[in-house]
Amino acid sequence: MKARRHMAEYLKYVSTRGRAPAQDSEEVLISGLAPDGGLFLPEAWPQLSRAQIAAFKGKPYAEVARALLGQLLGGLGEETLDSEIAKAYRNFDAPEVAPLRQISEGRFLLELFHGPTLAFKDIALQLLGRLLARALQRRGQRATVLAATSGDTGSAAIAALGGLEGIDLFVLHPQGRVSEVQRRQMTTTRHHNVHNIALEGSFDDAQAIVKALFADREFAAAQNLTAVNSINFVRIAAQAVYYFTATAELGVAPTFVVPTGNFGDVFAAESAMRMGLPVERLVVATNANDILARTFATGTYAAGRAQPTLSPSMDIQVASNFERALFEAMERDAHRCRTAMEQFAQSRSLTLAPEVLERLRARYDAVSVSDAKTLAAIARHYERTGQLIDPHTAVALAAADEQVAEGPLVVLATAHPAKFPDAVRKATGQIPPLPERLRALYEGEERQTVMANDLNLVREFIAARTGAV
Ligand SMILES: *Cc1c(COP(=O)(O)O)cnc(C)c1O
Repeated sequence: MKARRHMAEYLKYVSTRGRAPAQDSEEVLISGLAPDGGLFLPEAWPQLSRAQIAAFKGKPYAEVARALLGQLLGGLGEETLDSEIAKAYRNFDAPEVAPLRQISEGRFLLELFHGPTLAFKDIALQLLGRLLARALQRRGQRATVLAATSGDTGSAAIAALGGLEGIDLFVLHPQGRVSEVQRRQMTTTRHHNVHNIALEGSFDDAQAIVKALFADREFAAAQNLTAVNSINFVRIAAQAVYYFTATAELGVAPTFVVPTGNFGDVFAAESAMRMGLPVERLVVATNANDILARTFATGTYAAGRAQPTLSPSMDIQVASNFERALFEAMERDAHRCRTAMEQFAQSRSLTLAPEVLERLRARYDAVSVSDAKTLAAIARHYERTGQLIDPHTAVALAAADEQVAEGPLVVLATAHPAKFPDAVRKATGQIPPLPERLRALYEGEERQTVMANDLNLVREFIAARTGAV
């Protein structure tokens, strides 16, 4: 393992809660969550010069990914990164991987839905799955991957991990709260290492069970439990790449408008900025589940009840990755961050100190968009351009319409419209044609286990299926 001999040179990772030892990127990849309940972040952000960033213009996506991830995840080994990055992006149906398309004067869509499951989560998970399998193999270990999904993470995780040696994947989705296409993408998999659980509860319930199982040390150790949700920093790192390619292509600092649920994607943009990427502002676009919009408006981060909307992948009240932004806005005071998160866990509410709120507002705007406005945005875009967009992208497009930006506005298009045909038809009367890769969806047999919202049932189910107790 020549590439890993000089571990000390590589970037280490620290926890936002300050009570876990610094770890290398392989440990971050495999464990996901830090053992003190916090989230991992680089000990210091690697820096790229303006000249290095400008030189990304016109370069293949995989090459930019290698340059960036070599800095963030160097501990995984250069050869591993090179070969797995090449494989991860080979089967995207756009050669640019994340093409930037102009839609009007100064406005662009960054299309992130060209992977196997037609949502942006493929961009990170296609890579993470391969890296995880390699790392486990190197260590001679198996692992249980546990994911809560509001729709897209599940299918993207299944597409990335289905059939891989040494991995059992359990996916919890809220029963009846994901679209039919999303459900079928998960439940028609033929891979026997994939186990779908339809939980009688909300996404937040599913996420709470996942968190509780990670907190159960005995169980987590016996299972070698791993998270591929966006709490895993490797996902954030992989998502930072397209902010670099888009900005390099434009050649000026844009404002990014990001359809947001768990705050992972928009935090990837903050990560890119902290690594030196010139960005004007970040607009957090949420649906009616507006915890983030309320936080930026009032300074109080208070969870409400998750309500179902037309953009189900963002029906989230507790945005896990907000902890990372908070840690940075607290100038990396881990004690302060831990105290704040413990308070939030107890009372479901947290009031930010004025200077912390100021630092967040210096970077972020937040807009909450109703279902009615989402439909109107889909209809308007269709009338203007003849192009259909999905409801998550539409939330961001509607939020972009409220912005007065100097420079270019880049709206992240996070899913293909065919994943959400009901909303698209409601808005336009059109049914988006199913791309070739999804045609088999309506033929395959569905496999899932419906389960009450009960931690113990889920724990027993996993133990029985893996035989690891
Ligand atoms: C997951 C998802 C989002 C939200 O991303 P976060 O990183 O959770 O903020 C937005 N759009 C789509 C289509 C998604 O699948």
